[in-house]
Amino acid sequence: MQNTARSSGPDSRNCSRTISLLKEHYTKTGQVTALGKVAELDDPFRVLIATVLSQRTRDEVTSRAERALFGKFQDAESISQAGIGEIENLIRNVGFYKTKARAIREISREILTRFDGMVPEDLESLLSLPLVGRKTANCVLVFGFGKPAIPVDTHVHRISNRLGWVRTRTPEETETALSKLIPKVRWLDVNELMVRHGKNICKPINPRCDICPIARYCNYELKRR
Ligand code: SF4
Repeated sequence: MQNTARSSGPDSRNCSRTISLLKEHYTKTGQVTALGKVAELDDPFRVLIATVLSQRTRDEVTSRAERALFGKFQDAESISQAGIGEIENLIRNVGFYKTKARAIREISREILTRFDGMVPEDLESLLSLPLVGRKTANCVLVFGFGKPAIPVDTHVHRISNRLGWVRTRTPEETETALSKLIPKVRWLDVNELMVRHGKNICKPINPRCDICPIARYCNYELKRR
């Protein structure tokens, strides 16, 4: 592959172009993440619970648990009245399922008592819920409400650093740096595309740079040559 990469540091236009290429590639392949699928249901509560389930859990396992839980309980009201053992049984395969079962019931109760049955649409309120950190809250904004935010998980953190867009040590630093670099109109796409890319091509170990559609814009690939 010919080396046509930029010679200077990252800029917004470069990021936009790279995101466009990723979007083009993954639109063709048709792969969607677990949260991407839940987003299609247009139910912020379901997105919130699915995101809690997804913490430290593979996508396939998250999807199965989410479908099992919502096959039995449809909303915050019914989950708030469920027995902990019942919830645990339905989500047993996800990581930390006992902690998550308690948190999911408590979240449901707080949504009913503190937020009038509606998932809040602002970061601060979301962060006040059990087991909801910045990544989860930002996922709810993006996948539940279509509001611009950049949820940074291990895939987004790793790929942004490999591309040379950021040089950061923590997801929080990455979120801050990316929010200055990536045009806001692109924020909605970042998590979905980078998670797909991280699972399929830019894996944690042995990334498949030979088949990567954005290799010519990547610092990691340039250094390998
Ligand atoms: S070129 Fe390699 S390191 Fe860079 S984004 Fe693609 S797979 Fe990841």
